[in-house]
Amino acid sequence: MLEKKVAIITGGTRGIGLETVKVFKENKASVILFGSREETVNKAIDMLKKEGLEVTGYYPDLNNYKEIEKVVEEIQNQYGHIDILVNNAGISSKGPIENITSEEFKKIMDLNVNAMFNVSKAVIPYMKENGSGVILNTSSMVSIYGQPSGVGYPTSKFAVNGMTKSLARELAPFNIRVNAVAPGVINTDMVKNLPKEVIEPLIKTIPLGRMGEVRDIANAFLFLASNMADYITGVVLSVDGAARS
Ligand code: NAD
Repeated sequence: MLEKKVAIITGGTRGIGLETVKVFKENKASVILFGSREETVNKAIDMLKKEGLEVTGYYPDLNNYKEIEKVVEEIQNQYGHIDILVNNAGISSKGPIENITSEEFKKIMDLNVNAMFNVSKAVIPYMKENGSGVILNTSSMVSIYGQPSGVGYPTSKFAVNGMTKSLARELAPFNIRVNAVAPGVINTDMVKNLPKEVIEPLIKTIPLGRMGEVRDIANAFLFLASNMADYITGVVLSVDGAARS
C-alpha cells in the first residue's frame, strides 16, 4: 500500500511508533525512524534488521528546529522525496494540578505539541515541492473529553487536534493531507506493567471488551497514509473500541 513512499516516524523506537514502522515496512515504504537517544534508535534498528526490515534512524532534539531542519534536509537529499510524516512521539502526565509544576506542564507541551509543529514545518516545503504529502499525528481519546487528572496530557492532545484540523485546511490546496489517530487504551509496555486490579475494571469500560493492540493503531495509520484515504483530511480518527470517555 505504500510502495515507493518515504516515511518519517517520530517516536519510532517502541510502542505504537515501532509497530507503525513495521507495518509501513511490510507495505513497502522506505522508513526513517526518529527516537530520543542514539542507543534506543540503534537498538530498534538492530531489532528490525533481525526481522528482515531495513530502516534508518536519527535522534534529533525535537525542540531544536535547526537540528530537525538539518536532518530532514539530509533525508530529502538521500531519498529525493518525503511523502509521509507520522508525528507520534509523546509523553503523558498524571496527578492533580497542585502536584504538576509549570516545568512539567511545559515539557509535555514541548514534546506533544511544539515538536509536532517543528517536524511538520521542516517537511512541508519538500511536500509542497513534491506536489503531495501526508502528515499523521498521534492524538488520544482524552482529546475528546479530557481526563480527570494529569491536565497537561489532554491539553496537549486537544492542541494536536487543533493543529491537525488547521493544517489540513491550510495545506489542502497543496495536496497535503493532515489527519490524526486518537488511540484508546493500547496494550503497550506502560499498560502491561499496570496491576491486574487496575487493568481488569478498565477493560470492562471498553464496549469492544478488550484493549487495543499497537497493530490496531498502526493499521489506522497505514490506511490514512495510503491512497485509499485520498479524500480524507482534517479528521481525528478514534481507534478505541468506543471507549470515548
Ligand atoms: P511509548 O512511551 O512506548 O513511546 C514513546 C515514543 O516517543 C518512544 O519511541 C520515544 O523514543 C519517543 N519519545 C519520548 N520522549 C521523547 C523525546 N523527548 N524526544 C523524542 N522522542 C521521544 O509510548 P506509546 O504508548 O507508544 O505512545 C506513542 C503515542 O501514542 C504518544 O503520542 C501517546 O501520547 C499516544 N497514545 C498512547 C496511548 C496508549 O495507550 N499507549 C493512548 C493514546 C495515545
